[in-house]
Amino acid sequence: MTGVRFDDETRARLRRRLLDRGQVLATLLAAVLAGKDKVRELAAIGLDAKPGLRPEEVLRAALDHVERLRKQVEAGDDAYGRCHACGTDLGGAVAMLEVPWADACPAHAGLA
Ligand SMILES: [Zn+2]
Repeated sequence: MTGVRFDDETRARLRRRLLDRGQVLATLLAAVLAGKDKVRELAAIGLDAKPGLRPEEVLRAALDHVERLRKQVEAGDDAYGRCHACGTDLGGAVAMLEVPWADACPAHAGLA
């Protein structure tokens, strides 16, 4: 494999953090599906309610997103850590360990 941008240890940490994020999202999704109001909790983890989307839809999309990125990390996919739209590097290991589920540069954030 050429151009490995994240070493094994970093990838293991990224994977761990994505799994943890998935757990948080799955727990919230279960609560929302049980009829609990979790809008504030969603906002607290950076998931704003989107117009026309129910909280469970926001959560499902976020879960899919985290799963997709986790698979990229596991596969050593070069797309991980880059903007999904323009391919800009998102700042390497330091930035990705901070927000492992980032996949857009500032110009393309919110267009997922
Ligand atoms: Zn971009």
